[in-house]
Amino acid sequence: MMKTLFLNPPSYEGFDGGAGSRFQARREVRSFWYPTWLAQVAALVPDGRLVDAPARGLDLAQVAPLALGFEMAVIYASAPTFHSDIAAAEALKQVNPRLKVGLVGAHVATLPEQALATSSAVDFVARHEFDYTVKEVADGRPWEAIDGLSWRWKGRLFHNRDRAILHEMDRLPSVIPVYRRDLTIEDYYIGYLRHPYVSFYTGRGCRSKCSFCLWPQTIGGHTYRTRSPAKVAEDVALARTLIPEAREIYFDDDTFTDDRGRVAAVSRLLGPMGVTWSCSAKPNVPFETLKVMKENGLRLLLVGYESGNQQILNNIRKGTRVEAMRRFTEDCHRLGITVHGTFILGLPGETHETIRNTIAFARDINPHTIQVSLAAPYPGTELHAQALANGWLTVGELVQGRGHQIAALSYPDLSSDEIFAAVEAFYRAFYFRPAKVAEMVGEMLTSWEMTRRRLREGAEFMRFLHRRSAAAPAIAKPTAQASR
Ligand code: SF4
Repeated sequence: MMKTLFLNPPSYEGFDGGAGSRFQARREVRSFWYPTWLAQVAALVPDGRLVDAPARGLDLAQVAPLALGFEMAVIYASAPTFHSDIAAAEALKQVNPRLKVGLVGAHVATLPEQALATSSAVDFVARHEFDYTVKEVADGRPWEAIDGLSWRWKGRLFHNRDRAILHEMDRLPSVIPVYRRDLTIEDYYIGYLRHPYVSFYTGRGCRSKCSFCLWPQTIGGHTYRTRSPAKVAEDVALARTLIPEAREIYFDDDTFTDDRGRVAAVSRLLGPMGVTWSCSAKPNVPFETLKVMKENGLRLLLVGYESGNQQILNNIRKGTRVEAMRRFTEDCHRLGITVHGTFILGLPGETHETIRNTIAFARDINPHTIQVSLAAPYPGTELHAQALANGWLTVGELVQGRGHQIAALSYPDLSSDEIFAAVEAFYRAFYFRPAKVAEMVGEMLTSWEMTRRRLREGAEFMRFLHRRSAAAPAIAKPTAQASR
């Protein structure tokens, strides 16, 4: 088996995006998801090492010499960082010309031809669900026989047939030993999760078809494929043994609550273990299921509301009703489940009025914390295709010079400048009100650690708002790329 370096490459300082994050950008406060996708394939290739450069604060000069110790490098590429991902491939190849270099991730899965054509330093792309494609390359299988592989040979490019999607999720080894072996657990930090935390997948894919959502449309697919409840309990037990410092476990599945029977079964196994856990959810989970989850250790739900306007929800095919989202949130409040709500501004059909609706909705349902993202038309998504077809793309980039998100879309009645400015207005309207300030202060009083953490996040957040204001005029200008 080839000795393999799995690299989440350096890009913007503090950039949380390549190998684990759904919205690929530098966030408002320090934020790093685990590079779970890379860790999963690293778990299949024992003679390897996972390096997460952004989380460790490593630059290219520090990463490139690593190439000498390996026969193959697998780099996680993303749309906003594609150019620096290619620069990393070239730097590794320059240090070790015999190194085989491959790219993985949603962006190159969508555009494998472009990825290979951009630089001769890239030898292959493992498309879509890439775990076993990469493993077969590492095993030394002839490249023409590997499903899901796009590759270069003597200047020509080849695209093998797609790999069949993986259904037996229990076959995949746990990522926990890779985290413990290669990562610094304290590097991983999410504002609404306890620190340190540990996160991993118990299943892949989402049966919903939200038009903006990257992973189900590029890697995971629209069937929710899951590990058995017993296997999940085994993974959790392993996490507690190998990462005892973790104060919370987060299940990073796109929509962990999609299979209600399974969620209840997993919960009932976790309860007796005394684990504190959190997960993602669509805002449509019935009270009875929430109750079982809460009674068995659930602390927080990460909930994708996206918008408080029904027409916008219909436009993106979210499959939820505003009233149902309200009911769900009330149920969470009644049960004492903490909610981190995520919203997106600039989705198709957005107007001043719908933005006001969404801000009012968020204040009304009152999640504990929120995150407001800008609609990001990633290649490979329906939103990207719609944006191209309708001329909504304002700029050719998805992030600006520091890695923060750009408002990439504009509409006849709503400019990208206005969408960009609305994010700050949303945060201010949500957080800068007496009841919410009191709630945050109350939380700080629970412990000195929480006080320090919230003060640091508050300072980072204010810096973020300040930088955003400074960047606004610059990012409003169309780039040369976008005007072509
Ligand atoms: S429900 Fe969530 S994970 Fe599923 S497609 Fe919609 S946004 Fe994506």
